[in-house]
Amino acid sequence: MSSVDWEKDDPFEAQREQIENPMRRLLFEYGRPYWFAVTVGIVSSVFARALDLLPALLLAVAIDSIFGDAVFAEQVPLTALPAGWLPTDQQDQFWFVVAVIAGSFVLGAVFHWLRNWGFNSFSQDIQHDVRTATYDKMQRLDMEFFSNKQTGEMMSVLSNDVNQLERFLNDGLNSAFRLTVMVLGIAFLLFWLNPQLALVSLAPVPLIAIFTYLFVKAIQPKYAAVRSSVGKVNSRLENNLGGIQVIKADNTEDYESGRVDDVSRKYYDTNWGAIRIRIKFFPGLQLISGIGFVLTFVVGGYWVFTQSGPGPFTGTLQTGVFVAFILYTQQLVWPMAQFGEVINMYQRAEASSERIFGLMDETGRIEENTAAPPLEVGEGRVEYDDVAFGYDEETILEDVSFDVPGGETVALVGPTGAGKSTVLKLLLRLYDVDEGEIRIDGQNVRDVHLPSLRRSMGYVGQESYLFYGTVEENITYGTFDASHEAVVEAAKAAEAHDFIENLPDGYETMVGERGVKLSGGQRQRLCIARAVLKDPDILVLDEATSDVDTETEMLIQRSLDRLTEGRTTFAIAHRLSTIKDAETILVLEGGRIVERGPHEELLANDGLYAHLWGVQAGEIDELPQEFIERAQRRQARTETSGDD
Ligand code: ADP
Repeated sequence: MSSVDWEKDDPFEAQREQIENPMRRLLFEYGRPYWFAVTVGIVSSVFARALDLLPALLLAVAIDSIFGDAVFAEQVPLTALPAGWLPTDQQDQFWFVVAVIAGSFVLGAVFHWLRNWGFNSFSQDIQHDVRTATYDKMQRLDMEFFSNKQTGEMMSVLSNDVNQLERFLNDGLNSAFRLTVMVLGIAFLLFWLNPQLALVSLAPVPLIAIFTYLFVKAIQPKYAAVRSSVGKVNSRLENNLGGIQVIKADNTEDYESGRVDDVSRKYYDTNWGAIRIRIKFFPGLQLISGIGFVLTFVVGGYWVFTQSGPGPFTGTLQTGVFVAFILYTQQLVWPMAQFGEVINMYQRAEASSERIFGLMDETGRIEENTAAPPLEVGEGRVEYDDVAFGYDEETILEDVSFDVPGGETVALVGPTGAGKSTVLKLLLRLYDVDEGEIRIDGQNVRDVHLPSLRRSMGYVGQESYLFYGTVEENITYGTFDASHEAVVEAAKAAEAHDFIENLPDGYETMVGERGVKLSGGQRQRLCIARAVLKDPDILVLDEATSDVDTETEMLIQRSLDRLTEGRTTFAIAHRLSTIKDAETILVLEGGRIVERGPHEELLANDGLYAHLWGVQAGEIDELPQEFIERAQRRQARTETSGDD
C-alpha cells in the first residue's frame, strides 16, 4: 500500500507558502475590471436591506398611534420626516403606513434583483478570468512541471478550486454586506427607539465576536488540508481511469478499490475534522444570540407591563416599540450566526486562492524572453556545441556535439535510455541545456522567441495523439487557416488519403477519444499529415514508425521520405532499416555519442551500430557478450537511480 505523507505531499505546498494575501490579490487584480457590477451589488444590497427593516418600524408606529393612543407625529421614526408630509386624519394615517410598507416591498424587490445581478456577474466574470488565466499559465509551463505533477491535482485546481471561489464571491460577499447592513441598521434603529433596551439586546454581540474569532482560528488549517486531499482523490481516480486496461488485465480491481478507499477515507477524515468544528459553531452562536433575545423579552416585557423601567431603566416603553424590539432582535440572531458562515466561505476561498496563485506563480526552468527576436531559418543548419543536460541532479547527456548541415537528415540510434529523446527535447526547448549551446543557423535557441522556434519545427512522436474532433481538424491542428485542398494534399503525401476516404464520414469523421478508433499506423499518418501541412523548416521524428507493422511502416516510410526531402530532419528509430539512408547516424550510449557517420562507415567500424544492425537484419543471433554486459550495467543503473 502506498504510504504518502498526507499533509506533506501537497504538490503546491511550496508555492502556497509563498503566497501572501491571496484574497486581496483575487479581488484587486481580478476584480478591478468589474468594479461597476460589484458597486451596483453593494449599493443595492444596502438599500434592499434598509427597506427590509422598514415594515417592523412602521408596525410599531401603527400599534402605538393608530391602534393605540399615542400621537402619530410624535412617534420616533416619524420625527425624521418633515411634519407637513404626515396626515392628521387617523384613516389617512393608516393608509399612509400601508403605502409605505407596500412601497418598501416593491422597491425592495427591485434592489434585491439589482444586488443579485451585481454580485453574480462580478463572481462569474472573476471566475472565468481566473480559470482561463490559470489554464493559460499552466499550459505554458515547461515539461518538467508536468512530469512532476499529477494531472488530477491540476484538474482539481482548475475545476474545484476555481469553482470554490464562486461561493465566496457570490454568496459570501453578498452575505457580508447584507449582514453588515442588517446588524448596523438594527443596532442603529434599536438605539434610536430606546437606547437603554438596545444595550440589553446587543449585550451578546461581543461574545459572538470572540466566539467567531476562536472558530476561525481553529478551522483555518483544516481547510487547507481539505483542499489538498481533494487533489489526492482526483489524482488517484484519474490515474486509475487512465490505467483501466492494466487494472483489468492484471485483475487488480480489489487492490485499486482498496487504494481509492484509502484516499477517499483520508479525504473523509480531513473533511470530518473541519466538519466537527463547524457543526459545533453554529448551534453555539445561536445559543448566544438566543440569550440576547430572551433578555430583551424579559426586560422589555416587564417594562411594558409595569409601565416604568425595571432596575436602572428609566422612562416608558410603548407596546409597539417593544414589538419592534422583539422583531429586530430576532432578525439579529440570524445575521449574527451567519457571520461565521461568511468567514467560513472566506477561509475556503482563501485556501483555494492560495492553490490557484501557487500554480500561477510557478516559475519554470525555462526563462522565456518575450522580447527576443524571432528565429530566422535560412538553410536550416543545426549545431549542438558541447551540450550537457540532466533532468535533475544526475547528468543525462554529456559532451554532445554535432553539426547538421541544412536539409540533411541525422538519425539518433542507441539503446533505450541512452538519451535520444532528450537530445530532441532540448532542440524543441522543452528543456534548457545545462551547459553548451544549440544553434539553428547560428542563433542560440535560448536567444530567440520561443513560439517562433516551435513554429519552425514539426514534431511527429511515438504517441500520435489525436484530439477529439474531425480528421480534418486534427490535420489542420496548428495550421488552422489551411484550405481543404491543402489538407487533402497533405493527407496524400502522408499516405493517409485512402484510408480517410474509407472512414464513415471521410474527412469529417470524428476521431480521438470517444471518436472512431484508428489503428496506431493510421493515427501516425494523420500526425505526419499534420506535419506536412505545417511545412516546418526542421522536422523531428521521434520513433515515428514505432508501433506499426512492417507493411504500414513501408507506407509511412514513403510518406516520410517525401516529407524529409530538402528539410533538416532529426529521426530517432529503433528499426535501423528506416534510417540507414540518413546522411549522419549518431549512436548514443549512456548520454554520449559513441559513434557517428553514415551507415556504411558505421558498419565497417564494427562497433555497437554494426552489431545492432546485425541482430536486426538477422545476420547474427545475439550481441557479443561485451555488449550484453554493458546493457545489463546500464539497466541496473537506471533501476537504482529511481523512477524509470
Ligand atoms: P531514449 O530516448 O534514448 O530512450 P531518453 O532521452 O528518453 O532516452 O532518456 C534518457 C534518460 O533520461 C533515461 O535514463 C530516463 O530515465 C531519463 N529521463 C527521461 N525523461 C525524464 C524526465 N522527465 N525526468 C527525469 N528523467 C528522465
